[in-house]
Amino acid sequence: MRIQPQYDLIVVGGGVLGTFHAYHALEIGLKVALIEKDSTPQGATVCNFGQVVPSGMNSKWQLFGREGLRIYKEIQQQFDISVRQEGSVYFASNPEEEQLLEELHQINRDNDYPSILMTKSKCLDSYPGLQKDYVASGLFFPEEILLEPRIMINRLHKYLKASGLVLFANCTVIDCIALSNGIEVQCSNTKSLSAAKVIICNGTDFKTLYPELFNESNLVVSKLQMMQTRPQPNYKLPSSVLTGRSIRTYGAFQECPSYTGFNSRGDFDSTDNKWGVQIIFKQAMDGSVILGESQQSVDVSKINTLGTDLNMDVDDFILQEAKNIIDLPTYEIQRRWYGLYSHCKTDDVYQATIDDNIHVVTGIGRKGLTGSAGFAKANIYHIFNLRHV
Ligand SMILES: Cc1cc2nc3c(=O)[nH]c(=O)nc-3n(C[C@H](O)[C@H](O)[C@H](O)COP(=O)(O)OP(=O)(O)OC[C@H]3O[C@@H](n4cnc5c(N)ncnc54)[C@H](O)[C@@H]3O)c2cc1C
Repeated sequence: MRIQPQYDLIVVGGGVLGTFHAYHALEIGLKVALIEKDSTPQGATVCNFGQVVPSGMNSKWQLFGREGLRIYKEIQQQFDISVRQEGSVYFASNPEEEQLLEELHQINRDNDYPSILMTKSKCLDSYPGLQKDYVASGLFFPEEILLEPRIMINRLHKYLKASGLVLFANCTVIDCIALSNGIEVQCSNTKSLSAAKVIICNGTDFKTLYPELFNESNLVVSKLQMMQTRPQPNYKLPSSVLTGRSIRTYGAFQECPSYTGFNSRGDFDSTDNKWGVQIIFKQAMDGSVILGESQQSVDVSKINTLGTDLNMDVDDFILQEAKNIIDLPTYEIQRRWYGLYSHCKTDDVYQATIDDNIHVVTGIGRKGLTGSAGFAKANIYHIFNLRHV
């Protein structure tokens, strides 16, 4: 007698990528379980900026990001997941960056994605503390949102549980075994579950499942340093703020006509290039400002070399650069941390299929909070052979 699998789909990994795969599977009426190794997710999903910024993505991923914006806003209308629509702004500091902002504005006008060019004086009037020696002009994206990452993912789990999701926390998946009628999923706490299909969104855990596959892959792990100031007294940052290096490195700008010339002129100064520093500001709900970030990358097989220490020279450099951009009331730091994410050297996302019904999906890189909701929808439709409009 063939025993029916317990679930249509088991998703391994309760970060944003796994959770949105579960979300879309539930949306099409599947019976879904989500398995997370910690009591609540502790990976990149909870230590990021909380910026949903399709404006920074190349045209393919901007579509996923815009779908993600729609989904976050739709959920927020039904259940508070900490989404705030405050927009994002890019500040240019020189004529080349200004040119790129103008080109990106035109590209988005053609794509029906709202953006507003801001003169230097408009920027200075709108953003208190913005340094007049830094800013030349700005480009504002009013549709974009901010959220509190840790609150968002935990509330999203709660929301999905009310919609039928079965969530197993504190449960590490240690093996997936293909059977004639599905997959048996074995957990470290001796629990064993079964499903027709399994999707593994393991983030940067490359040691538990399929370590050889990952060691031989073209996945890279990046370590990013971040900081959080004390709550700013009587200060409101009107939106997320992105600056020079974001303009020089984000996929959206690479599609601008003048990008090639701009980059080949060697505009990266050696220090921010060495540490991969880009200066980003986001005000959290408690009034503190999250600042970052640096980036140090190694192949998966060398992940241990990233270590767990924070490099204080990097933090000092970020603080010094941030002060040159916005004079915040306080730069007193209350918290410092690092986060890891994985990305693929050759593809937008790492994907591998094992025994037909086990799908590994990770390596979404720096675009996970923004792109996961839209990408996971397309991927669920692909994996379950449904037509995706
Ligand atoms: C510092 C920093 C800032 C960032 N800022 C932004 C931003 O502002 N906007 C944006 O769009 N993106 C941002 N990102 C990127 C974004 O955070 C990531 O792309 C995204 O969180 C990746 O999600 P994930 O679900 O793939 O991985 P993770 O969040 O790492 O989740 C993987 C989960 O799988 C679980 N897991 C792994 N193996 C097992 C197993 N065997 N059994 C059970 N569970 C398992 C882990 O416990 C973990 O919870 C940032 C990243 C960092 C590090």
